[in-house]
Amino acid sequence: RTIQEMKDSCRLPPLPTIKDIIRLYKLRALRQLSQNFLLDLKLSDKIVKMAGNISGFHVCEVGPGPGNITRAILERGADRVTVIEKDRRFLPSLEFLASATNGRLHIIIGDVLEYDIGHLFNRELAKDWNDVPPPFHIIGNLPFNVSTPLIIKLLRQVSNREGPFAYGRTKMTLTFQEEVAERMIAPVFSDQRCRLSVMCQNLCKVEHKFTIPGQAFLPKPKVNVGVVLLTPLKQPLINLPFEIVEKVARCLFHSRQKYCKRGIQKLYPGNRVDLVEETIRLADIDPNVRTFHLSVEEVGQIAKAYDYICQQNPKLKNYEFRMGKLNNDVLSEDKDAQIHNECV
Ligand code: SAM
Repeated sequence: RTIQEMKDSCRLPPLPTIKDIIRLYKLRALRQLSQNFLLDLKLSDKIVKMAGNISGFHVCEVGPGPGNITRAILERGADRVTVIEKDRRFLPSLEFLASATNGRLHIIIGDVLEYDIGHLFNRELAKDWNDVPPPFHIIGNLPFNVSTPLIIKLLRQVSNREGPFAYGRTKMTLTFQEEVAERMIAPVFSDQRCRLSVMCQNLCKVEHKFTIPGQAFLPKPKVNVGVVLLTPLKQPLINLPFEIVEKVARCLFHSRQKYCKRGIQKLYPGNRVDLVEETIRLADIDPNVRTFHLSVEEVGQIAKAYDYICQQNPKLKNYEFRMGKLNNDVLSEDKDAQIHNECV
């Protein structure tokens, strides 16, 4: 087939505007689901463009809403698109779009946090982990309070090479509150550097592609939105299980401005100066370096030392410093103060 024929086969018949769809199906945004719709199809297309060439790909879109980004994914030539949407009210508008796609669009009504995206991809198209990424992509403009638990779930799956990553290094293009996107890419010494920076950069190449101003959405959120592309690394920078890296990063970054020895203390119960000193010795790091000055590799040295000490004394592993796990972080715009406290 010629390129023009391929382009024509992806092109959708003329469809009503997203504004009309919202009006037609009376899709008032629900505050409790933090719904904000992107009405400008050029911006929806720009998000999809950031995913790279997706022609012939299997794409999972999370939170399609009325289907604006879905249209762009289809127009850019994805072979098969599966959308996962929690709000059943979008079913008619998505079915309307599906009817124009010759069976390329599949709709799942459900909660993405409870769904295994891995089931959606065709095993036959899998690639080896060290090969180029497979022809799969996860795309989503989700509410802030879902995109953060989702990225943590996905990072855990990257680490375990399971779910959508059982088939190779599947890429992800997801939106986040701009401040969160900045934390994800924050380098050493940055004011934004936090445990999310370490967790993301340990496992993925993280690129903050562009920012969408809040006023592009209906209703308008209080913050801007960052579009982030994540590509799993062939080798994580820290070769340890996700849970250990998460725990060490969490304890260290609880006091990100303080000397890192303060964070190391939080890994152990009571005042175990001996264990703290042993960790510092094994990790071969300067205890008076401030936590946000630590590279991912240095966090890894501390994590390896901690892991070694726990292997000598397995009970230590059960000790949890009293604070929320990353999974339980609430990252809605209303809870910004809370994020700030968690990350800073
Ligand atoms: N994609 C549309 C756009 O860009 O305009 C809608 C974006 S809106 C910010 C987020 C969408 O995610 C809503 O349609 C909402 O119903 C859906 N959503 C929220 N929580 C979800 C979840 N846990 N699983 C799947 N979809 C969810």
